[in-house]
Amino acid sequence: MILPELTLSLIKPDAVQKGVAGQIIGRFESEGLRVVACKKLWLTTAQARAFYAVHAQRPFYEGLVAFMTEGPIYALILEGEGAVLRNREIMGATDPAKAAPGTLRALFGDGIERNAVHGSDSPENARIETDFFFSQLERF
Ligand code: ADP
Ligand code: MG
Repeated sequence: MILPELTLSLIKPDAVQKGVAGQIIGRFESEGLRVVACKKLWLTTAQARAFYAVHAQRPFYEGLVAFMTEGPIYALILEGEGAVLRNREIMGATDPAKAAPGTLRALFGDGIERNAVHGSDSPENARIETDFFFSQLERF
């Protein structure tokens, strides 16, 4: 039996500025992940701080918040069997220099901070993160 799972993907400001958002969404579709929800938005500083609150004590937190608010992003809910792990595989490692060839971060990331995409790291966090960005009325 196939148990569909949801995960949150963000196309970060660096990738949107490069004009590769469409390619990234196409990659998810070609990998068999279904787009349940999608919108373009520009995070406020308060929203970015809240989304990344788990990293508030990390030295990179303020820089990360500044980066994530420098321009618009896309937020997506992706659905598929094992979607959380599948998306993490498609994204590649946090540091694009260590990401496997052909992964989104290897293709489009510029550095450990400006790494093109976000993906939930567990089903529990996927639930929290999808609810952060989307209401039930925005999911199809
Ligand atoms: P991931 O996005 O792969 O789950 P983390 O949750 O550890 O990685 O970190 C969240 C985001 O913070 C990363 O995607 C990246 O943009 C940024 N980041 C992580 N580690 C560093 C670092 N050492 N220096 C600068 N930015 C970082
Ligand atoms: Mg993470």
